[in-house]
Amino acid sequence: MDYYSSQISRLIDQLSALPGIGSKTAQRLAFHIVNMPVEQAEALSGAIIDAKKNVRYCKQCFTMTDASLCPICSNPKRDQRTIMVVENTRDLAAYEKTGKYEGVYHVLHGAISPMLGIGPSDIRLKELMQRLQGEVDEVIIATNSSLEGETTAMYISKLIKPTGIRVTRIASGVPVGGDLEYIDEVTLLRALEGRVEL
Ligand code: ZN
Repeated sequence: MDYYSSQISRLIDQLSALPGIGSKTAQRLAFHIVNMPVEQAEALSGAIIDAKKNVRYCKQCFTMTDASLCPICSNPKRDQRTIMVVENTRDLAAYEKTGKYEGVYHVLHGAISPMLGIGPSDIRLKELMQRLQGEVDEVIIATNSSLEGETTAMYISKLIKPTGIRVTRIASGVPVGGDLEYIDEVTLLRALEGRVEL
């Protein structure tokens, strides 16, 4: 049943396809957008298109950026010999917000999950191992403390161990099953400072 004009239904359909947006929220957003001044609606759609067209993966750490090297990798003040491995760009942002981490990152874009059929070759692990052929002192594994995050941490540490590079895991101050992005900065810093050797 098409209660609304087909244009509004189309907008609602598009919005409700986004993660975390149910049909009620999609309707509310659609009506909000329709009631916006046209300039604001254009700014919103323009931001979506520009981000989609210009955002790509950093060629070194694979975070999302709009240059070939992200601002963190290209910052000469960052310690390129310390690499923190995170599951996604949101986790990187969570650690960046603390303002205390001076190393660089490696974004896996996922975690190993035998249940979901996600194996080591489905995440950016090969790229991490390639980076380790350069000069690296420490790899800090900061995957989530979910089953997938722990599985990934164990897998990575086994891969890196033979290289002789120091491998650490952030402390378990991060609650089990907790996504890094929802954890406050103090807890994140404590987890980093209390990291343990693997
Ligand atoms: Zn980068």
